[in-house]
Amino acid sequence: FSSRELTAHFLQKIEKADSKLNSFITVTGEQALKQAEAADNARAAGETGILTGIPLALKDIFCTRDVKTSCGSRMLDNFIAPYDATVVEKLNAAGTISLGKTNMDEFAMGSSNENSHYGPVKNPWDLTAVPGGSSGGSAAAVAAGLVPAAMGTDTGGSIRQPAAFCGITGLKPTYGRVSRYGMIAYASSLDQAGPMARSAEDCAHLMNVIAGHDVRDSTSVARGVPDYTDTLNAPLSGLKIGLPKEYFGDGLDPDVESAVREAVKVYESLGATVREVSLPHTHYAIPAYYVIAPAEASSNLSRFDGVRFGHRCKDPVDLIDLYKRSRAEGFGEEVKRRILIGTHTLSEGFFDAYYTKAQKVRRLIRQDFLDAFEDVDVLMGPASPTPAFDLGAKKDPVSMYLQDIYTIAVNLAGIPGISVPAGLAGGRPVGLQILGTHFAEAQLLNVAHQYQ
Ligand code: GLN
Repeated sequence: FSSRELTAHFLQKIEKADSKLNSFITVTGEQALKQAEAADNARAAGETGILTGIPLALKDIFCTRDVKTSCGSRMLDNFIAPYDATVVEKLNAAGTISLGKTNMDEFAMGSSNENSHYGPVKNPWDLTAVPGGSSGGSAAAVAAGLVPAAMGTDTGGSIRQPAAFCGITGLKPTYGRVSRYGMIAYASSLDQAGPMARSAEDCAHLMNVIAGHDVRDSTSVARGVPDYTDTLNAPLSGLKIGLPKEYFGDGLDPDVESAVREAVKVYESLGATVREVSLPHTHYAIPAYYVIAPAEASSNLSRFDGVRFGHRCKDPVDLIDLYKRSRAEGFGEEVKRRILIGTHTLSEGFFDAYYTKAQKVRRLIRQDFLDAFEDVDVLMGPASPTPAFDLGAKKDPVSMYLQDIYTIAVNLAGIPGISVPAGLAGGRPVGLQILGTHFAEAQLLNVAHQYQ
């Protein structure tokens, strides 16, 4: 069948199911069908790659020329970027078709998608549950079969945790592996884009397209990109797996724990050996992250001043009134909370006590992982301490922040991580998280693929 037929098929599914899920902020049907026609023509001319004509969705954090990029915020409800993010440019060049922009927590701040200006997303497994966040729209859309794959971003777990909650596969690459150009910045030293799909194999194909150096992102790394599909079938005999003991402690749901331990047994049957390891500074990851991420966010979000782009209040009396009211009206509660925390920790007199201290802790957390990878090839554990929780269940911000206990240290260390579906707990999906050392994406995809 043609890409046009395929695209029309998925657009119909979105039309039918998304009023319940709310996984899309913008659906670009007309553009998608045009792109699909072009892909069909390219195919007829023999100019095809493996992804030519395949429909995808983009988290609404990636700038797209001529299509609204809201970042889940009222602040950018009227924002149309004049350019494409590098990731988008690369996907377009590979012939993929964008069906639209997916819902997300405002400015990627959240773990449940309840912080979106466009309303919460529902988990397709159970409409009373959250899909996870912040890339919850991408995860829900893929899980519900509204699109074969979607792009997400992960600053502290936003690809892996929603992938886990929705029973799909999501990869957060090494910091610097994928360009951040055109991705609206939350915490620049932690943000990284990655694929969310139905299998590790699909993620590998997407990584082949999006990975690589970009002159427009000075933190992207100039290092060769392997073909991530080449090693998917490498045998796992002799693979050394470490189970961090801190990832199996208090607060871990017993059903999640047994699903993860069952998955580890499958690896043993494939010839891997398993041992316990320790990441002794795990306990400090959440406090360090919630100093560093809000600090960077308060700085990044200062550009939304009502002058150059985004929401502008009505009839400002002077410049200060313009700034104040535009920001008060444009940002939601969680975003404001983080701007306040970040501004406080960066201010004179507090900077060393909070920010500098958190950076030192970050270094220790990174060292924990590097030490562990001296002894084992990969680490395994749960992606989240619980399966998807109910909508509205976590009202206080700290209980929400604690959700990120197994994902956040990975971003602080800059290493890659993947979440793979590993059974159910209480009828809701469980994610097995597999971590590797810097630039070990091919290995993570191989290990994930062998389980699937
Ligand atoms: N839940 C974390 C936060 O709220 C991580 C979000 C993300 O990875 N973008 O910051």
